[in-house]
Amino acid sequence: MTKTMMIVKTLPEVRQARGKLPGPLGLVPTMGYLHEGHLSLVRRAKEVCASVAVSIFVNPTQFGPKEDLSRYPRNLEGDLSLLREAGVDLVWTPDNEDVYPPGFQTWVSVENLTLPLEGAVRPGHFRGVTTVVAKLFNAFTPDRAFFGQKDAQQAAVIRRMSLDLNFPVEIEICPTVREADGLAMSSRNAYLNPQERQSATVLFRALSAAKTAFEHGDKDAGHLRALVEFTIAAEPLARLQYVSCADFDSLEELEQIRGRALLSLAVFVGDTRLIDNFILG
Ligand code: AMP
Repeated sequence: MTKTMMIVKTLPEVRQARGKLPGPLGLVPTMGYLHEGHLSLVRRAKEVCASVAVSIFVNPTQFGPKEDLSRYPRNLEGDLSLLREAGVDLVWTPDNEDVYPPGFQTWVSVENLTLPLEGAVRPGHFRGVTTVVAKLFNAFTPDRAFFGQKDAQQAAVIRRMSLDLNFPVEIEICPTVREADGLAMSSRNAYLNPQERQSATVLFRALSAAKTAFEHGDKDAGHLRALVEFTIAAEPLARLQYVSCADFDSLEELEQIRGRALLSLAVFVGDTRLIDNFILG
């Protein structure tokens, strides 16, 4: 027997629906246009939680003025049928006004961890992310929340926020789900034309080249960054925005890799900005 999935729009409806669900409750926040990466988080949540909630909200405050908010891909009906099939119990699909009431002026921001990498090239991005995730935690009061390693800095920032603000939520980070050719799944892959889609494998190829060197004993972070640069430079449709080889916990740039490192990059393929990362060590 399939149970019915509750779909709600307003905050009072979320609270009411949440009250009916047996715990522990798992939450999977998303911006929709769902793919296997999102569904892997839902499946993991189903494994360890009695009830699973998903939010679908293209959060305007995490987009810069020149970014892709207005053209971000959407497919609510398709998303809902995937979530129904996956056995999700509750979905929140708020409008902007349901999340940001008139006169809104309260923000959550994490400091040092948001300075490098994505934070350096997307000013204000993480303030939008942490604010909306804090609001989601307050709305759903989940016992666990699930995020993807694909957005490695976001995962670190949310962990930090949750610790610092005493949210009683266990944060679980799940592995990056990839296409057969290595491209990390992303809603933004929908922007790529067939030629760009082919070129987009360069992120995975570049990370793989550096990982192979690392596994063969190259612990020089500068050398690994150069390997990534070199691989991206050989792909005509791709332009590297940044490559980083940083300490996994502090996200500070490394010279030598001793413990765990995060090798991450952002690349424009045509006009589409893609990110990816590997954990080393
Ligand atoms: P988004 O809808 O892009 O905001 O992503 C919602 C959640 O899904 C975030 O926690 C992402 O890190 C996660 N996610 C996105 N793509 C993937 C992927 N390819 N593998 C695993 N998790 C992912």
